[in-house]
Amino acid sequence: MTAPAVHPRAFPGIRTLSRRGALFGGLCLCCLPTLGRAAESFTMEEVGPGIFVRKGLIADATPENADAIANIGFIVGQKGVLVTESGGSLADGQWLRAEIVKRTTKPITHVVLTHVHPDHVFGAGAFVQDKPVFIGHAKLTEALSARGEFYRKRLIDLLGEDRTGPVVYPTLSVADTAEVDLGDRRLTFTAHGPAHTTSDLSMIDSGSGLLFPADLLFVTRIPSLDGSLKGWLKEAERLKAMGPSRAVPGHGPVSVDLAPALADLTGYLTALRDGTRAAIAKDVSIEKAVDIVARDQRDKWALFDTYNGRNVTVAYQELEWE
Ligand SMILES: [Zn+2]
Repeated sequence: MTAPAVHPRAFPGIRTLSRRGALFGGLCLCCLPTLGRAAESFTMEEVGPGIFVRKGLIADATPENADAIANIGFIVGQKGVLVTESGGSLADGQWLRAEIVKRTTKPITHVVLTHVHPDHVFGAGAFVQDKPVFIGHAKLTEALSARGEFYRKRLIDLLGEDRTGPVVYPTLSVADTAEVDLGDRRLTFTAHGPAHTTSDLSMIDSGSGLLFPADLLFVTRIPSLDGSLKGWLKEAERLKAMGPSRAVPGHGPVSVDLAPALADLTGYLTALRDGTRAAIAKDVSIEKAVDIVARDQRDKWALFDTYNGRNVTVAYQELEWE
């Protein structure tokens, strides 16, 4: 996602959760699970040998969901545990850490910070006590320096300081590729060019062959553009060329067949690119373009009305001078 929206969005299913949250809002908070009522619907699914993923909500951050909106999880290796995504808040990260401790006594040795967006990095604070290596794209430190405190203040307004947590910076920067050896399996990281954001890091697990593209792959939830539209289409080709057949997307189901999921993603991005180019060619203003570009994709994606206009704005600015 891009900057977190602070109000619950009108999306079927999520309304139900919000109502349930409000119902229990009057109870003593200490009696509730860390993530509130929404946590009861969260479970870890084993998507491969020793690989556990929690499906994030298809929603924006709310006090009830503690920004638990991204797919997060961990991989248990012989030497230790690697956290694939830390969560959207300190509370979300604490929930994930408790799920890890339930399943293994191995040390948490690595935490991946897949890109700058808050729903993917604010869980990291829950793992500082484990002194892991925090792995991120070479451009992530710069991106977090620019936006981290802004994101943190927005989350504090929503969740309170105690449940938000600190901005955690990478301690291992990946400029091109890197490898982490967990004993019985190796994780290979690739730092991508500007695409979803300017700090997208993907990972392949040798133990399962699974690709972890993070937000380079959205499923169900509309992709949000915060880097480069042309770059994202290029990096989508690169993901395909890496050869994995299954992937754990940043949002959507916990695992999917890569080829059809990438086809849906590039279908949207191509509609966005071609529609925006056509609008620019006809001298249609940004304000008008946001209402007309990629409308044929509306029924295919959740939260379309929330994010498509922003995507058109970003695309317009990129394509205007080509
Ligand atoms: Zn993102």
